Amino acid sequence: MPSPDADSADRPLPTPRAILFDLDDTLLDTTDSATRVWHNTARAFEEEIGLPAAQFDPVLDASRKWYWADPHRNRRGRLDVHRSRVEVTLHGLHELNLPGRTDLQLANLAERFSRHYSDHRVESMRFFPGAQEALEHFHDRGVRMALLTNGDAEAQRQKVEHFALDRFFQAVLIEGELGFGKPDPRVFQKALDACGVEAKDAWCVGDNLGWEVAAPQQLGMTGVWVDWNSVGLPEDSEIVPDLVVRRVAELPVMLDTNHV
Ligand SMILES: [Mg+2]
Repeated sequence: MPSPDADSADRPLPTPRAILFDLDDTLLDTTDSATRVWHNTARAFEEEIGLPAAQFDPVLDASRKWYWADPHRNRRGRLDVHRSRVEVTLHGLHELNLPGRTDLQLANLAERFSRHYSDHRVESMRFFPGAQEALEHFHDRGVRMALLTNGDAEAQRQKVEHFALDRFFQAVLIEGELGFGKPDPRVFQKALDACGVEAKDAWCVGDNLGWEVAAPQQLGMTGVWVDWNSVGLPEDSEIVPDLVVRRVAELPVMLDTNHV
């Protein structure tokens, strides 16, 4: 005889009245596509830098990690993405110890390198497999949805337009446009108001445990963690998601959308 737990695990979960989605590394392959564009940019500048892209790639990777690991740089950088790209590139160029380059020459090179990167950034991004179909699925069934994305107004709006995301959502809330973002409770309240639901009837779905799981849980929402890179929950995590998925595409299968 199956245990009650096994039985309930097989049953579809009730569909929430509203779902709040994160954008980067939740719906779009932001990190993976960034790695591709950094690599392609390094290839385009191989001759000028005097090193094969394969040699600059790991330096740029380390530079990105260094840049975004610092909370102050993270906030400054996500609200001014061009500056973040210049600083990441310049830090990487300094690490290379290229002979005979002045600081001014390196700064100029970092500026042009970053511009090349920016020119190819959005077109390089893709929906994660099944993410667009999941949005269509919920939209067609009348589930209210909001998009909550932290970051630079221009860069995030460009993604929203490129992927025609407006059509799915009751609200598109961009940190750089509002002047505040996750985990500020005000942005979640704005999303709930736009969807016309209370917190208990909403899910929040995203890859950032603090922003899209812990903060919404504190307000009474269900927090769904997207472990897109299959890293697993950190062993010492104090944040416990209500649900963990690898892809947003798993959600329509789990939910009983006949009972919206
Ligand atoms: Mg994200």
